[in-house]
Formats: sequence, structure tokens, C-alpha cells
Amino acid sequence: MRIILFGPPGVGKGTQAKLLIAEFNAIHISTGDLLREAVKNKTPLGLKAMQYMDAGNLVPDNIMIELLEGVFKAKANDSFILDGFPRTVAQAKALDDMFEKMGFKLDAVISLRVEHDVVIKRLSSRRMCRTCGRIYSLDQLGENTKQCRHCGGELYLRHDDEPDVIKHRLEVYLNQTKPLKEFYRKTGRFMQIDGMQEIGYVHKQILDILYPT
Ligand code: AMP
Repeated sequence: MRIILFGPPGVGKGTQAKLLIAEFNAIHISTGDLLREAVKNKTPLGLKAMQYMDAGNLVPDNIMIELLEGVFKAKANDSFILDGFPRTVAQAKALDDMFEKMGFKLDAVISLRVEHDVVIKRLSSRRMCRTCGRIYSLDQLGENTKQCRHCGGELYLRHDDEPDVIKHRLEVYLNQTKPLKEFYRKTGRFMQIDGMQEIGYVHKQILDILYPT
């Protein structure tokens, strides 16, 4: 299975990707996670990407395309769920070329749709673990909002999940990423799902789309 999960920040792509990789024995390729890891380790990629990420802007296409080419080379034959890539038409075109070179077939582009005020609420109440990268919402955490339940690591509010940056990220999504819907609609592999529903229900809808009876 080779699937792209598409949608604005905070729509639940990461959560759904984690459920899908268990289902398909696939790998989760989250470009946001790869970049955050690079920033944490102060690699040359991380140092280049940090300023764009902190401001809620997209990291330039050439950097992102090179990053993804490297991932594909290392994990050539795996099934994967792409989360956060492509985010521009240039990235989508480059991805098509990579698929052609590698002989991959794209099974589906699944777009999750959520209203913007819900996205703002979801992102500003999101907390991430500095150690294992797990994501929680404040509603889930109760009293203990500082410590990861899984590994005990420190939970923090991502700088780009602060209200002003969220607003900017949504504008960036509307201007640079949303036009991709048209790009993929034309190929016939594009499917849209209501991401406002409960997590398990959204997952079931994705499976129903992938395996229609
Ligand atoms: P995410 O965790 O997917 O919301 O990504 C966090 C940030 O990483 C984004 O706001 C961008 O700054 C950067 N980023 C992740 N994926 C991409 C991409 N495909 N193109 C450009 N920037 C990206």
C-alpha cells in the first residue's frame, strides 16, 4: 500500500497514519517528524529548516524533495503512508517522478477535511513529547500536562502550534497546499473524508474507501 494522507495541519493525518501502518505493516513517513528530528540533532538539514518551521512557513521544495528521495532510497520496497508530503504542486510533480523511477504505484490520496476553527482548537491544545514524539490533547491528559504517559518525557507546546503561528500555517495551507487537491482530483486517486468524526470512525471510513465491498 502506498498512500498519501492530505489535509491542513491538525486534521489528524499523524493519528490516522499510525493506525494505518499497523493495519498494512507499512512505514510512516512524516516529513514534519523527520524535520523535527533533524532540528533536535542540529544536523545541517535541521539548521536550514528551523527558521521556516518556527515561522510556520514551508521549507523550500528543493530541500524537501532531496529529503524524500533519501528516504525512498533507504526504504525502497516498503509500503508507506506519506504524511505531510507533498505540500506544493512542485513537490507533487517531483513525487510523481520519484514514483515512476522507483516503479511505485500510488494507491490513494486520502484527504481529511476539518473546519478551521476546529483545527485551531485542536492544535493549540496539542502537546508533544520531546523524547518519543507522541502527541496528546489537553483533554486526554487531565491533571498531568507535563509528562508523557508512555516514556515519562517532557510534554511541550510546539512553537508552531501557538495561535499566531497556527493562523499563518492555515494561510500557507490555503495558498500553497490546497491547490494540490485539483492536481490529484485529475488523476482519479483522490478521496475525501470527513475528519471531524471520532478517530476510530475516520479510520473505518478510510478502510471502507480502500476496500470497497
Ligand atoms: P507537520 O508536522 O507536518 O505539520 O510539519 C511541521 C512543519 O514542517 C511545517 O509547518 C513546515 O514548516 C515543515 N514541513 C513539513 N513537511 C513539509 C513539506 N512537505 N514541505 C515544506 N515544509 C514542510
